[in-house]
Amino acid sequence: MRAVELIQKKRDGGELTTAEIEYLIGGYGAGEIPDYQMAAWLMAVCWRGMTFRETTDLTLALARSGEMIDLGEVAARAADKHSTGGVGDKTTLVVAPLVAAAGVPVPKLSGRALGFTGGTLDKLEAIPGFRSDLSPAEFRENLARVGLVIASQSADLAPAEGKLYALRDVTATVASIPLIASSVMSKKLAGGAEAIVLDVKAGRGAFVKTPEEARQLAETMVEIGRGAGRRVAAIVSDMSQPLGLAVGNALEVREAVETLRGRGPADVSELCRALGVAMLMTAGAVADAAEAGRRLDAVWQSGRGLAKLAELVAAQGGDARFVERPELLPRAPAVADLPAPREGYVVAIDAEEVGLVVAGLGAGRQRKGDPVDPAVGVVLRAKVGRWVEAGEALLTIHARSAEALATAAERLRRAIAIGPEAPEEPRLIHGVAS
Ligand code: URA
Repeated sequence: MRAVELIQKKRDGGELTTAEIEYLIGGYGAGEIPDYQMAAWLMAVCWRGMTFRETTDLTLALARSGEMIDLGEVAARAADKHSTGGVGDKTTLVVAPLVAAAGVPVPKLSGRALGFTGGTLDKLEAIPGFRSDLSPAEFRENLARVGLVIASQSADLAPAEGKLYALRDVTATVASIPLIASSVMSKKLAGGAEAIVLDVKAGRGAFVKTPEEARQLAETMVEIGRGAGRRVAAIVSDMSQPLGLAVGNALEVREAVETLRGRGPADVSELCRALGVAMLMTAGAVADAAEAGRRLDAVWQSGRGLAKLAELVAAQGGDARFVERPELLPRAPAVADLPAPREGYVVAIDAEEVGLVVAGLGAGRQRKGDPVDPAVGVVLRAKVGRWVEAGEALLTIHARSAEALATAAERLRRAIAIGPEAPEEPRLIHGVAS
């Protein structure tokens, strides 16, 4: 078999066999197939797509490129969660501790920033000292001790997925239903939990732009999970504007802490509650949604959810004092508001553009392996539907330099539409697939 023939086969719309997909992923993982050939194959997949059988084979090849974590008896009680990527999506930092504090173990392999979207690992690594590269043994130990672990792919855990993910980030090959489905589900299968809840994003700030495409992605992932013997549920949620107010690593950690204190933006709180309810139900920990809601609210209001986040951070080497002292998180030196050019309703906030601007400020990567700036980002002051006066702050920019700030301001001014008519406010949850 030769990689160039498999690139050509996909380029021409062919269907790869199981053996061909295993050859590509095995060869790439082992360093025998170079980035440029893999990037060409990924681009061919973006254009030509994959059958469900190919997508399942790719998922399994990625998951089996490392150890498939055996959680023993815990697996049956544990729940994992994954988002397909959005702008301002800090839900894992809120919902994973809440669910763990409610008594359901959460073992999670997460990702880094991808394209214009942020990544849970980059957010957590904004906390000084936090480590995500755990060995399978550390992963199991932390889960047993804390009831919650959030780790990256590593040399042992879905390593080929980690490599492919980093390559897709910098080669414009993210927005493809089979590539997203296999990327997400390979991590979920390798992570070991039997219950999996997926947050499938739809809109400008997501990789799939319409609720219909998002439903297709959700159904593909649910079917892959079921085929592997897991219990899977998916929520299709809105990403037409950023989720919450903060976009940027440390800024989002602060917002997650505020949300766990009960003071977060309404959309973040509502989505986290819906995901948490789905996790408790899919794990079989509750009789119905009402009981799940009561259990989540109890840990949320008592502060046990926030305490669990601090425990997770401490267990993975981070400085958990940030929970009480957010000033310990990195701060950007250049901070300024962007004023509204006129009065009116905020009619639209282009989430993709906000994500690109924040990535350009340094929160994302231009090349594989680039470091990210934990401090930079944007905090919205108004969301779609709000009336703003001329000159009122639309958002605050946190940048490394005055030049970066000016460039970002110029682009963000065009990313927010203001008009005389009140717009229809976007629905946060479009539907559920299970
Ligand atoms: N999240 C992932 O883990 N992979 C993708 O491809 C997109 C979002």
